[in-house]
Amino acid sequence: MPSRIQIRIRNTSDQLTRVLPAALALLLLGALPAAAGPDSTPGRDPNQPIDAAYTQKIQKYTTAPNFTSPLVNYLPASKEVPAPDAVLGDIAGAPNILPYSSDVYRYFRMLEKASPRVKVVSIGTTEEGREMIAVAISSEANLAHLEENRARLAKLADPRLIHLDDAEADRLVAASVPVYYITGAIHSEETGAPTALMELAYRLAVDESPYIRDVRENEITLITPIVEVDGWDRMVDVYRWHRAHPDELYPPTIFWGHYVEHDDNRDAMGLTLKLTQNVLATYLGWKAQVLHDLHESAAYLYDDTAGDGPFSPWIDPILANEWEVLAWHNVSDVSALAMPGVYTHGYYDTWSPAYLMFLAATHNGISRLYETFGNQGADTRERTIGADETARTWYRQNPPLAKTLWSQRDNNNYIETALLTALHYFQENRRVFLKNFYLKAKRSTQKPFQEGPAAYVFPADDPRPGLQARLLEILTGQGCEISRATAPVRVTLPAPKKKDSDDDPAAPPEDEKATVTREFPAGSYIVRMDQPYSRAADALLDYQYWSPNDPRKDPSDDTGWTFGELFNVQVIRVTDTSILSAPMEPVHEMRAHGGVTGAGAVYLINNDADPSLAALRYRLPQASIEAAEEPFETGGRKFNRGSFLIRGVDAQAFASAVNELGLRAYSEAAAPDVKTHTVRIARIAIVHTWERAMTEGWWRQTLDFLGIPYDTISTQTVAAEDNLNAKYDVILFPPADTDGDTMSILRGMSSGWGNPLPWKKTPETPNLGVLDSTDDMRPGLGWAGVAHLEEFAARGGLLVTAMDTADFSTSLGLAHGVSSVPVDKLRVIGSVVRTQVVDDASPIAYGYSGTLSAYCSNGPIFALSNLVGGVAPAPAPSRATGRGTADDPDYVVGEASPPATPPEKTEAWQAPPVKPDDAWNNPDLIPPAERPRVVFRFADADNFLVSGLADNADEIAGHASVIDAPEGRGHIVLFAINPIYRGETAGSYALVLNAILNFDHLDVGRKLAVK
Ligand SMILES: [Zn+2]
Repeated sequence: MPSRIQIRIRNTSDQLTRVLPAALALLLLGALPAAAGPDSTPGRDPNQPIDAAYTQKIQKYTTAPNFTSPLVNYLPASKEVPAPDAVLGDIAGAPNILPYSSDVYRYFRMLEKASPRVKVVSIGTTEEGREMIAVAISSEANLAHLEENRARLAKLADPRLIHLDDAEADRLVAASVPVYYITGAIHSEETGAPTALMELAYRLAVDESPYIRDVRENEITLITPIVEVDGWDRMVDVYRWHRAHPDELYPPTIFWGHYVEHDDNRDAMGLTLKLTQNVLATYLGWKAQVLHDLHESAAYLYDDTAGDGPFSPWIDPILANEWEVLAWHNVSDVSALAMPGVYTHGYYDTWSPAYLMFLAATHNGISRLYETFGNQGADTRERTIGADETARTWYRQNPPLAKTLWSQRDNNNYIETALLTALHYFQENRRVFLKNFYLKAKRSTQKPFQEGPAAYVFPADDPRPGLQARLLEILTGQGCEISRATAPVRVTLPAPKKKDSDDDPAAPPEDEKATVTREFPAGSYIVRMDQPYSRAADALLDYQYWSPNDPRKDPSDDTGWTFGELFNVQVIRVTDTSILSAPMEPVHEMRAHGGVTGAGAVYLINNDADPSLAALRYRLPQASIEAAEEPFETGGRKFNRGSFLIRGVDAQAFASAVNELGLRAYSEAAAPDVKTHTVRIARIAIVHTWERAMTEGWWRQTLDFLGIPYDTISTQTVAAEDNLNAKYDVILFPPADTDGDTMSILRGMSSGWGNPLPWKKTPETPNLGVLDSTDDMRPGLGWAGVAHLEEFAARGGLLVTAMDTADFSTSLGLAHGVSSVPVDKLRVIGSVVRTQVVDDASPIAYGYSGTLSAYCSNGPIFALSNLVGGVAPAPAPSRATGRGTADDPDYVVGEASPPATPPEKTEAWQAPPVKPDDAWNNPDLIPPAERPRVVFRFADADNFLVSGLADNADEIAGHASVIDAPEGRGHIVLFAINPIYRGETAGSYALVLNAILNFDHLDVGRKLAVK
């Protein structure tokens, strides 16, 4: 294709004569041979010898002629560079082989040693200390000039550095080589990526076909072969156990990462996992244009880059179009190579920014994701797929087969072929994509003057400085710049909206343009939107609305996440651009400023629902700490219920603890006159099942971050332990991901069919058993476990349950008087909803007042009764059939005015009052002190939704959201929300922490019914 050659040469000479330093000229000259070569169609260079033995095995392990392509059906030979079989002992994708991370890394380091086209860097470690790496593959010239290239890309990434000069951007674009970042094996049971990426790297390093040379010379391919390294090594253990016991069932990989399994791909907002932090740092550090994550769940290749609606409103439309262009081209290119079952569109909506790949989307790059067909290991298996996947839709014109013999090699062929065509297309159009990279960044910096907002403000007088600092720290982690006002800042804001309930039909229509002014004190934090990563801040801090009428009925993930709400801190969206000229200074370290004021005998710390308060209790085990049971004022300061009174501490140790935790302590000569109780150090266990351990991991992580010790135990431990109280004061039973089958907690995996499934550290499986061990994963909690939990609470322990574990408890009758109403039409899919305090004297509510936004996912819907076994109250009774109108009284013959039936008004969160007939000779009547105590409830339907989707919310609105149910001398606490979730809900952590701190005083402030 001569014209293309001419264009490239002309561009090159332009650069040479105009702007480029000599080093870069060399780099570009290095790129010339590829451009001058024959047209690059996919396929081998006939002049380059192939590795015959390797190639023969590729053919052998590929189960059908169409499951491969001219790009991967051979392996070029190299005298210097070792192929993957040097480490694997067989080819990439060979049956029965999964390599440990150490072998994968050893191979990449062999490549680096043997080829000047490969560079390996360490990008950090995992929670369990395993290394994460990134491998760059490009031409010798490109790798020799990485720093110059990075410096150019940095200017495109932050157009302020070139004063938004488009001409300069064009020059940089022409001179730059893009970076395409591929990540594999975030999901540990999706096992194809590491070997596919080993072979891909080899091909990119040694293949001399024009098609591959184009990629090598015009692009830097960056690869992290294993994202979830802890989980990967566990998966390899499990798989090797399977190979060693081929006739037995083998254990499912329950723990992937140290904290979470599948949710490790939902941390891109909260940034709590090492893998997210390390990938983000690599992505931003290399100034990459693409982050392409590899998964396995669909036959045979679903490119979810195109996505489906609703599309994220926080990304630049340029990106939405890049998604379409890339995906459809990719599908077209792979289909052209006659590989069946390749499609895009459908399934995945681009709404939630929680996915790892979305780090690119919120940082002016391009997010991509493949789902290929994996066998959860390297067995070659017969696979069948359902009609939904084989359907011939407009976007899947050549569907996969209903029945296939499928191998790991087939999977590797698809991954590599698709990636090679994607890489090729990207480099072919690199100027466009680099220019877009610049334009998206430029438009991000212009956001205040375009669609807005101009800034988000975090007021200096927020009553929760600790939580405010934590949220600002996340934004800093996202690469956002934070400023602090050096003087009061006055802005114009839209006038607050009137509530519907306030509507007066006679009132004039609301003026949508009405404004108010607001002044923020000096010291307030400002997230300016005239910065390159403004979209990351906007995506986290804005509100979300998913219409119940949206054509998309099954959101891919959560629909709401507004961080200011979930962190329980004030975040004000400001569109008034004058704020950008307010006096402010950049802030680099985001910490709440703790410290001690005064020097007396007792220290006071206000309870503002800051999780650090619980951290302090555990940090100072020798200290005498009491909690105030009522609000009080002293020294001109107001203190909430639950505030700490601390004595008996070393002044220096105390000062350093509060400093580090960002807590403000006030020292007084004498303790205030307020009723208190002792805050003991509770001994804590967190329970998981052996079926699924995912959502519970966020709870473990949170306690670890706070330095609160606990034991990780399973339902089997609970079943085996006759006296749980001897070891624990508090048992946390977080959501168990039972997907509606809560009885699986009781039952376990089966009734003992098959063989034992061990999960423990042995020479055969050295990476298992880190968090917990068992000889057999199958048994569940069992009836003994249920009895032990009940006894634990009855003897004074605290059992905390949430969502499905709360539902499970009520269905077993563990919390007297609480039942779950079946969900009918309710759809609250991972939304932020409003709850409100019902009983602010409950220690669980310490530090809270008014409303609290919380994470909710369709219930459970609690109903209360004062009778054991009481079921949900029926809808309010209408009058019986009789004389008169619907609201008239009936009559009784001979009675002039019969006593009217008193109107009963029971709110959804309340138990219906005890009637005389209920109380008469009724052993099921729960004594007042044993009745459930509602601490929080969901807001009414018209005020329920904060962010996300809420359809038919009246089913759950008004019902109890946090219940404290007495059980003997102890308590069972039930959450209908998830208070600790994905590092996103710090504002509700204190609900659990308050329960822990006050586990033996939960009845404080209780008002008992008379009868
Ligand atoms: Zn996956």
